[in-house]
Amino acid sequence: MVVHAIIVAAGKGLRAAGDGPKQFQLLGSKPLYQWSLEAFETHPAVQQIALVVPSDRYEYFASKHQSERIKIIAGGRKRTTSVRAGLKALDARSNHIVMIHDAARPGLDATMISSLIDTLSDADAAAPALPLADALKRLDGDSIRSITRDDLYRVQTPQAFYYGKIQAALETTSESFVDDLAAIEASGGKIRLVQGDERLSKVTWPDDLNRMEKILRSETLSPRIGTGFDVHAFGPGDHVTLCGLKVAHSKGLIGHSDADVAWHTLTDAILGALALGDIGDHFPPSDKNWKGAESSLFLKHASDLAYQAGYLIANCDITLICEQPKIGPHREAMRETTARLLALPLSSISVKATTTERLGFTGRGEGIAAQAACMLVPK
Ligand code: MG
Repeated sequence: MVVHAIIVAAGKGLRAAGDGPKQFQLLGSKPLYQWSLEAFETHPAVQQIALVVPSDRYEYFASKHQSERIKIIAGGRKRTTSVRAGLKALDARSNHIVMIHDAARPGLDATMISSLIDTLSDADAAAPALPLADALKRLDGDSIRSITRDDLYRVQTPQAFYYGKIQAALETTSESFVDDLAAIEASGGKIRLVQGDERLSKVTWPDDLNRMEKILRSETLSPRIGTGFDVHAFGPGDHVTLCGLKVAHSKGLIGHSDADVAWHTLTDAILGALALGDIGDHFPPSDKNWKGAESSLFLKHASDLAYQAGYLIANCDITLICEQPKIGPHREAMRETTARLLALPLSSISVKATTTERLGFTGRGEGIAAQAACMLVPK
């Protein structure tokens, strides 16, 4: 099945305030219209895309996006005029499918495109729609009357048609329609609604951009990975602190804080995943505040930063490198203290240990080294 798309981005869209029309404002890392453009571009059935932009921005968009597959079209004053211009520009046959979509609805995905294609096997037109959840009232002067909402739907886009049918429906009249489905309604065609999606809600008001950014946040972020490495030398003492746990030993670890080499390493792995520097940047050794500090403070700080940036820790893997003390007997307890501090399931935390076969500084028992990897996923 050959599919074409028209993205209508020619509106003034001034209700969303900000800089210029809403469809060109940034949502996450890219302008609003680009979310829809990429959804169509990456769908294998979509052959050609007409992006209809305001006529005074034509040159800019033509230089940025024009290609074999993407046609930049100067739109008209009314939405229906812009849609007509888009239809005219496509190299489509009457039995091809065309999807007409508002640039101000950024949450389009391949599943929705495919579902609309399937639905057209049995209809002249198809569109996503959601039932109304709020009570509806009609305000008439001073009187308010309830309206039953049972059969009422919010219809979204993309709206899908056979090219020949929508072109004919729009050609036979100079009327302007509230949406493209209305043209098929007027011509008596068969329409089917598919389950809509809140992510396809229209960005109209100033708050909508923020709300949509939250909904789509997981899509603006990619998983991230970080690694850490740290070494502390042995000094006088009767225990070492590893993963917040005091392990009896004939020596202690030297450090400005409690010298918890395992948690320092993990802190660095999380900061590394966020590209936010290292533990020394956040807690300078020159700062007296951190003298003798518990390393739980450092690790918690890094995990809070990850959370604030929109991430959850998927898993982490710590390797301790030393001859003594033996880590094995404490390994499970170390996983537990780490999981508890980070509020993660035990299955997300791995603690391993190795020796270096008596080679190097760890082999000579001069200190403990640790390395860690950590994966962050959008929450
Ligand atoms: Mg350290």
